[in-house]
Amino acid sequence: MGTFANGVHPHGSKALSAGCPIERGPEPKAVYVPLLQHIGRPAVPVVQAGERVLCGQLIAEAAEGLSANVYSPVSGTVKGVLGHITLSGKKREHILIENDFTEEEMFLPPLADRSREGILARIAEAGIVGMGGAAFPTAVKLGTDKKVDILLVNGAECEPYITCDYRVMIEYTQAFLAGVRLCMTACGAERAVIGVEDNKKDAAALLARAAGENVSVRVLKTKYPQGAEKQLIYACTKRTVPEGKLPADAGVVVVNVQTALAVQRAVEENIPCYERVMTVSGKAAGRPANLWVKTGTPYRDLAVFCEGKEDCGRIVSGGPMMGESVFSLKICTGKGTSSLLFLDKDECENRNASACIGCGRCVQACPMGLSPVFIEQALLGERWEEAEAYGALQCIACGCCSYVCPASRFLVQSVKLAKKKLQERRAAANVRGGKKDV
Ligand code: SF4
Ligand code: SF4
Repeated sequence: MGTFANGVHPHGSKALSAGCPIERGPEPKAVYVPLLQHIGRPAVPVVQAGERVLCGQLIAEAAEGLSANVYSPVSGTVKGVLGHITLSGKKREHILIENDFTEEEMFLPPLADRSREGILARIAEAGIVGMGGAAFPTAVKLGTDKKVDILLVNGAECEPYITCDYRVMIEYTQAFLAGVRLCMTACGAERAVIGVEDNKKDAAALLARAAGENVSVRVLKTKYPQGAEKQLIYACTKRTVPEGKLPADAGVVVVNVQTALAVQRAVEENIPCYERVMTVSGKAAGRPANLWVKTGTPYRDLAVFCEGKEDCGRIVSGGPMMGESVFSLKICTGKGTSSLLFLDKDECENRNASACIGCGRCVQACPMGLSPVFIEQALLGERWEEAEAYGALQCIACGCCSYVCPASRFLVQSVKLAKKKLQERRAAANVRGGKKDV
């Protein structure tokens, strides 16, 4: 069974929603569609206040450089482009559209050119970005000029609670596999490997039966963070991605399950990317579910739909290991929003940090082989070369170190901060034209 070094075994809590078939989510009265739902620059609005738009109509064009098109998820009237609260706490520009509930649609024209270039152009046109959370524009990733021989599909879904990819794999099996084949063409890979954790044996077996030529399923040990890019690549192919290099340098491109489904929808059904399947779960959600959710849906609509308690222990967007705490239900979903969790008090620990007892558990847990305890000490002493030497720049923010720490130290926050400081110092040194990194 494929796996990687270190990592942790958090309680999966997937039973809450794993048996819930995918259904249509709430139909919001108004959507706040973020212009920045991807890595790169915000898209540029092409509609104005007062304009009527259809579901599937382009409302913001990809900016120059790294960016992605944005489409309307509803039919209705544009009320304007305005600042709206985001998970980071900052206001960012969103397009507010009042839903008229007529559900009038406007899709992309049929795609005749199924060559590599034709598929890549359609993926870019449809505004598809990585749906696993990273939200990197997919056409750029698949369009690499490096020689790629394996398309790796991340079906690990290793974060606790989240089950939307699992449901897609068992309910949309043929469409998902068609998307995998289209992604193979788009990146020039001769074969595809789908990595699935062994807590989803039924999905692995189903896919293995249906996969066909040059597509195989690799069953992986259930361990967190099995779906992290470098860990997944090693677990499925035994290849390692050198520090500072991309998976394509190891001949691999990694896409998420729902990215592949989005590619199939865009190429074969002419549907641009304006909705996705996400999980709403947690013990404080009265009705856990896997739902098709339109981008720009306020979290409050999901709370009402799934009977999520606002005064629960904690509300989290994304998984409990890497997700972010939700401080306002006015925040809206984007293409990369995989889940919204309503956690009871007994599901989230709120312990006070105490002094490090030097147990070394954080070092043993780190899947990147780093020394979180020493990085934290270097950060506190502002010893930047030491922080770099212990590997702060390679941190993938998985949270394993914090999870195992018996002293409840805020290790992941410390290592992320050290990484940010090192990157800032590196950028400042580059601006000055210096050769030294830090
Ligand atoms: S140091 Fe970073 S990569 Fe290592 S366990 Fe902590 S969060 Fe994960
Ligand atoms: S796990 Fe916590 S207590 Fe143990 S060495 Fe790391 S920081 Fe110290």
